[in-house]
Amino acid sequence: MTFSRRPSRVLVANRGEIAVRVIRACRTAGLEAVAVYSDADRDARHVALADAAVRLGPAPARESYLSIPLLLAAAKEARCDAVHPGYGFLSENSAFARAVTDAGMVWIGPPAEAMEAMGSKISARERMKAAGVPVVPGALIGTFEEHQKISLNGQEAETSAAARRGEPRPPAAFGTFKENLSSVLSLGFPVVVKASAGGGGKGMRVVTSPSDLSEAIASCRREALAAFGDSTVYVEKYLDSPRHIEVQILGDTHGNIVALGERECSLQRRHQKVVEECPSPAVTPELRARLSKAAVEAARAVGYVSAGTVEFLLEPSGAFWFLEMNTRLQVEHPVTEEAFSVDLVDLQLRIAAGERLPELPAAPVFHAIEARVYAEDPDAGFLPQAGRLLVWIEPSGPGVRVDSGVISGQAVDVHYDPMLAKIVAKGRTREEARRRLVVALRETVALGVATNLSWLGRLLESDPVVRGETHTGLVETLLLPAPLLPPDEVFAAAASVLSGPAAAVPEGAKDVWPGPFAGRFRMGGGA
Ligand code: ADP
Repeated sequence: MTFSRRPSRVLVANRGEIAVRVIRACRTAGLEAVAVYSDADRDARHVALADAAVRLGPAPARESYLSIPLLLAAAKEARCDAVHPGYGFLSENSAFARAVTDAGMVWIGPPAEAMEAMGSKISARERMKAAGVPVVPGALIGTFEEHQKISLNGQEAETSAAARRGEPRPPAAFGTFKENLSSVLSLGFPVVVKASAGGGGKGMRVVTSPSDLSEAIASCRREALAAFGDSTVYVEKYLDSPRHIEVQILGDTHGNIVALGERECSLQRRHQKVVEECPSPAVTPELRARLSKAAVEAARAVGYVSAGTVEFLLEPSGAFWFLEMNTRLQVEHPVTEEAFSVDLVDLQLRIAAGERLPELPAAPVFHAIEARVYAEDPDAGFLPQAGRLLVWIEPSGPGVRVDSGVISGQAVDVHYDPMLAKIVAKGRTREEARRRLVVALRETVALGVATNLSWLGRLLESDPVVRGETHTGLVETLLLPAPLLPPDEVFAAAASVLSGPAAAVPEGAKDVWPGPFAGRFRMGGGA
């Protein structure tokens, strides 16, 4: 049995804030934690924090954090008896999970079989349908070869034209593809073409008209092949302005599976989450019970163990549909932790040691909201930014939690995800949590690279977000007020104050900077 041995020294096979988070949890549980790093991360925060650290290789992830042989060698060298994969990188790679257990170590995550069952979106949908969980209506669209043949001889264009003319069935001679295509057309437009192996918003094309379907399928296949090494795609009905609601699941090795409330993750750009909260303002206790039941059934259907997340789309009517299951810890897990006062990573460690799930709260006690701080430019289509983070100052205050993996002076590398930190605020009410988060974002200082900090603050102050009336298309249509920025001279002076010895403050000068700069930098005043 894989999960029966209590680990004592854990290899944290990740970087950034999640590596820091897992190392801290190991320490709390009385376990040693070993970090791994690429050359770009030699001076990173997670490396300094761990009990030991092993170099993997150069900066590109394929030659470091994504290399199974290098990670196994690091675990062996550091005499680890368990591996925590964090999220991203190899966290949903069943071959890695198997390699870890084959090497005699404990995998702090679900069984490889459960990861495989949920790893392909197509097979996950089939499993969920069989388990009686409602899935987003969709259709398969044949193999790559079939699609290529059809694209080459141009008949698919004919099919699309026929569909536009309102003909119910496409022309004959398409074999399997014909059957599939007719079920795609019967979904009605818009539809979304999705990579079966997709994730992180990649490999997804929204198609509004039948004439664009062929090109969308072809380009989605190309992107899927490049990003995931698998060109299998399928089509789902594209729901109109749903909410993204997901349920936190925990399963132990004794067959107990529980749901720990939902998270609302509807604020997204490029189909990627940027603000999440727990509980969802749209979920009543009755709906929570139905969502939880469906999520537990989904997890039970694949023999789930450890922490996982079942994602749903919720329509205004209250109907919800299974989207996918993530077989790992989720980026946004802190909002569940804060709302329920639990430590999900600690629970993962206990489950991996064979412990039974403890009694957990039946409903959230607090409201928690998380904002992801990215090195990206909201004015340039949220383009990721790289450079040196010259100054990084974290906020503090009642109910504020910061999960970050960065320090002042650190390089923000193009090779990795541009997320710098997660700022979380909790309160007795949603409004208290939201206000605390807005203040915390204002107090956060990131100089040197462009970030979405100011944009996040303005998003959280916008009317629909204040009212909790969010949906997955909101960010794209919302017009936010322009940021109120001090003149460039203020930034330059602030940077010089922070990087050198404190400058003399002229008598009578007035404060121009709130938060951490207050009293340290003033404008005008006596000469
Ligand atoms: P990924 O695995 O890349 O994260 P998901 O399938 O989880 O992709 O979807 C990510 C987001 O894309 C969802 O939260 C939602 O905003 C949007 N989305 C995905 N499928 C649909 C759909 N069928 N209808 C409407 N929006 C969708």
